[in-house]
Amino acid sequence: MSNKIFKGIWIVALSVFLASLVFIMGLSYNYFTGLQKNQLRNETELAAEGVANAGMHYFDDLNTEGYRITWIGADGDVLYDSDADTATMENHVERKEVKQALAAGYGESVRYSSTLSDKQLYAAKRLPDGSVIRLSIVQATVWMLILGFVQPICIVILIALALTFVLASHIAKKIVKPINEIDLNKPEQYYGQENYKEVEPLLLHIAAQQSQLKKDQEQIEKTSLIRQEFTANVSHELKTPLHAISGYAELLENGMVREEDIKPFAGKIRSESSRMTKLVEDIIELTKLDNGGAEIEWEDCNLLRIAENAVDSLDAAASALHVAVSVDGTDAPIKGSPQTLYSIVYNLCDNAIKYNHAGGSVSVTVCPQKNDTVLTVKDTGVGIPEACQDRVFERFYRVDRSHSTEVGGTGLGLSIVKHAVMIHGGRITVSSEIGKGTEFMVILPNEPGEIRAEGDYAHYA
Ligand code: ADP
Repeated sequence: MSNKIFKGIWIVALSVFLASLVFIMGLSYNYFTGLQKNQLRNETELAAEGVANAGMHYFDDLNTEGYRITWIGADGDVLYDSDADTATMENHVERKEVKQALAAGYGESVRYSSTLSDKQLYAAKRLPDGSVIRLSIVQATVWMLILGFVQPICIVILIALALTFVLASHIAKKIVKPINEIDLNKPEQYYGQENYKEVEPLLLHIAAQQSQLKKDQEQIEKTSLIRQEFTANVSHELKTPLHAISGYAELLENGMVREEDIKPFAGKIRSESSRMTKLVEDIIELTKLDNGGAEIEWEDCNLLRIAENAVDSLDAAASALHVAVSVDGTDAPIKGSPQTLYSIVYNLCDNAIKYNHAGGSVSVTVCPQKNDTVLTVKDTGVGIPEACQDRVFERFYRVDRSHSTEVGGTGLGLSIVKHAVMIHGGRITVSSEIGKGTEFMVILPNEPGEIRAEGDYAHYA
């Protein structure tokens, strides 16, 4: 950066310097040409007076160094010329300055030499007798002038180059120094300081990015912690049924089980493995939802139909526990993922049946509103203590661990529900009273907006 600033200053300074040089030379050239022309006119007028008074005698002792004087008769014939033989000279009546002088009393003209290295200035004055006196001087052209000045110009340019070099590198360093000294971790400390006025928008930008980075970092750490905990929990949850299975299998293998106990042992192995299967299925579902619903296909669904299907598939489980399940409501068109919506109703009803009493009931209602659809799952079960109501959505959180294991819970059902609701842009609330029952209320927008990114709901995990 310092190099770029240096180059910039150097180029600008040099261009300004060269432009000024050309401009000043142009001006001086014009000025001196003007002066020379005036002088030539005065001298021509003096010479005209002299010739008018003295005639040819005027030229007798005349010193014509530096200029040329010509006397031309009224008919254009040259009567006298200080530089050339008049006999060989052609008629001058057509020369511009002579023509002008004959017509108007005074005339001027400029003519370039064939080499263009110099030019001739002419001034001519008509005398009372009709003849014309003409004076001319040689003037160097701009190019000749420049050529004459080459040496001093080169010296001045060299000095200017050296000076701008030193100054530009000094200025560039001065500009860059405070920027290099900025502590990017604490950009706020430079606000309002004279040296940093120009870079304040940059500092503000850096500060905003720093805090965003910090937030992102915290979010990443939090998510990674949640993942670590989840992995540890999964291993722990899988270990228990695996140990049980391998224990039963070992007993069977060693022939330590009586003939009549073989069947119940096999039954235990089967139930432990189906617990593992359920756990793995739940983990897979949760992982899918964890991706922010990226793989989910959105369709036009009817939440009432989905609720009826979910309740139907839990019919056998409800009958076994003597729990009556009812579904009420009207058709509820909603844009969403049918599998995920099914999973919401299924998990809520499964819990409402599992954590119920024999003879209890579960009522599911689907109530479409203007922009949302409200789904409620109400049971007459054991209830959830108030202190645990927020935590039941956490992964592997159970109010009563042994009861959950006993009824085949994995501790992931409500976590899946919460994620599924979030993906649909909805919300879920719970109200419960110990011994009386629990009601879960899910509000889902009929047309969900943008799908939320994973980070938005990671803290619900
Ligand atoms: P689980 O597989 O153990 O049912 P969930 O995530 O579905 O896991 O639920 C977490 C815990 O919340 C359950 O273990 C249970 O203690 C409690 N819970 C969930 N739903 C109900 C309900 N309807 N009535 C009483 N307790 C419930």
